[in-house]
Amino acid sequence: MNRRRFIRLSSGAFLTGLTGGCGGQSSEDNQYEIKVVSDRLQAHQLFQGNVLPLDDVINTDAIIVGGGIAGLAAAAHLGARDYHLFELSDRWGGSSSSQRHGREEFSQGAHYELAYPDYYGAEALGLLERLNVIVFDGIRRMWDFREKQYLIPQSIKSICFDRGQPREGVMPEGEERFLDFLGPYLGRMPLPTRLIEKENRRLNEMTFHEYIRTESELPEPLRRAIDYQMLDDYGSTGDQISALAGVHYYTCRPYYTQKVELFSPPQGNAYFVQKLLDVLPPEQIHLHHMVNNITVEKQGVEVEVSDFAVGRRRRIRCQNVIFAGHKLGLKYILPKLYSFFNQVSYAPWVVLNFVLRDHHRDRSFWQNEWLGKETDFLGFVDSDSQYNPNPKKRVLTAYFCLPEDQRWRLTSLEDPVESKRWASRAMILLNKMFSHPIDNLVEAIYIKAMGHAMPIPKPGYLFRDANDARLYPEIVFAGVDNGRLPLFFEALDSGISAAKLI
Ligand SMILES: Cc1cc2nc3c(=O)[nH]c(=O)nc-3n(C[C@H](O)[C@H](O)[C@H](O)COP(=O)(O)OP(=O)(O)OC[C@H]3O[C@@H](n4cnc5c(N)ncnc54)[C@H](O)[C@@H]3O)c2cc1C
Repeated sequence: MNRRRFIRLSSGAFLTGLTGGCGGQSSEDNQYEIKVVSDRLQAHQLFQGNVLPLDDVINTDAIIVGGGIAGLAAAAHLGARDYHLFELSDRWGGSSSSQRHGREEFSQGAHYELAYPDYYGAEALGLLERLNVIVFDGIRRMWDFREKQYLIPQSIKSICFDRGQPREGVMPEGEERFLDFLGPYLGRMPLPTRLIEKENRRLNEMTFHEYIRTESELPEPLRRAIDYQMLDDYGSTGDQISALAGVHYYTCRPYYTQKVELFSPPQGNAYFVQKLLDVLPPEQIHLHHMVNNITVEKQGVEVEVSDFAVGRRRRIRCQNVIFAGHKLGLKYILPKLYSFFNQVSYAPWVVLNFVLRDHHRDRSFWQNEWLGKETDFLGFVDSDSQYNPNPKKRVLTAYFCLPEDQRWRLTSLEDPVESKRWASRAMILLNKMFSHPIDNLVEAIYIKAMGHAMPIPKPGYLFRDANDARLYPEIVFAGVDNGRLPLFFEALDSGISAAKLI
């Protein structure tokens, strides 16, 4: 989902073809299939893996756990070194992965990235340049994306439905005070966050709402808008996330003085996943492989990996491990190291892709934001607004972010009756954002449930890097849940930083 739609542009034309508050009905006539992917079920393979027959020892220099952005970036940095990377699921990318339906590929998680100013971290920028993803514009001092067809034009970037009524942008009008006090941070909130200067890190000790109240008022419409945007990017509201995360959101790019490119291919950030895969040796990276045990010994590290494709376990001896999987898993894989991460809170997310039969209906916007009493529903991204040379279907990707204490609701998705209920509820909400119900157009629904989708950057969370105080020098950590903001660039940088340590 997009962010930072803050400065309002004057245009009335964007409402064409959309009606507000038009309630929809779920149709019983239309038949469609629902496919559910649940990371809870995937994680439970840990226990199945432990009983698989065990093979002999293989030797390698390094093992990378996890094939999300961080693990793949670590592998790209290791280059020609002798390593093996293991990803437990059937696809690459973790929370940046995609799904296929026939010839369509669409995001089941991260959807977009924004262009980078020249003061961002050289390591991650260097990798993206090497992957042919970005190019430097010396006049604007920005790193722009090479494949311009995936840029989303300003005119169709977003529409916000506030209690059913369409308007432009999430932010209410007349909040200049809020912008004023953010001003001093512009240009001083880089990515990766490890580059943030010490003097600004005090913002990491309080919540965003506490900080706003010391500087300005927080009227209800502004609070709702900020909470929506924090939930959308960080998985929780302004009374939970740190002031540093909040300030960073609004000031990490020159939004108010320059045009910042918004890059969103139909497959979302799986685009970057593919770019990374293109430079990795296929024989060294393995899907369907779960690391289920790590033992540090005098002569090195022994790693146990379950190969679910052949139903066997392998024992691998190596010198180093880059752990780029969810740190929650350490509880079972290497319990001694879990204590460092036991304070990390994760936001549960559910992503539903609605594949529609016909392609052109209504005027489409890339991001369709929902400000309503259903605070877990954030709206949807519409593939109609993304570049597709051969459009056959239209895919609406709806996002739900749940409070941490409602994670249990995701378990119900494993029951077909409940997954249908989730789909129906999402469809009713989507119908409120269209002039005609979409029910009869639905061909398939893909649901991805991520119980621990992203770390919530609460006060004290950022900059707490487990690599600064390693109990075992052989084990290093990558991934956004190692004291980073839950963002693509942070994941990329965390992988490179970890690989540099071994
Ligand atoms: C719904 C959603 C939307 C988002 N949208 C955006 C966006 O638009 N832009 C943006 O910048 N960021 C976005 N983010 C955040 C971004 O996707 C993440 O910050 C980033 O992809 C995290 O990468 P990672 O490698 O740190 O972790 P993950 O993506 O979580 O990858 C970890 C990988 O490790 C694997 N793994 C775990 N344990 C094991 C094990 N024991 N053995 C083997 N493999 C294991 C997992 O299966 C997973 O593939 C979004 C996140 C979510 C959830």
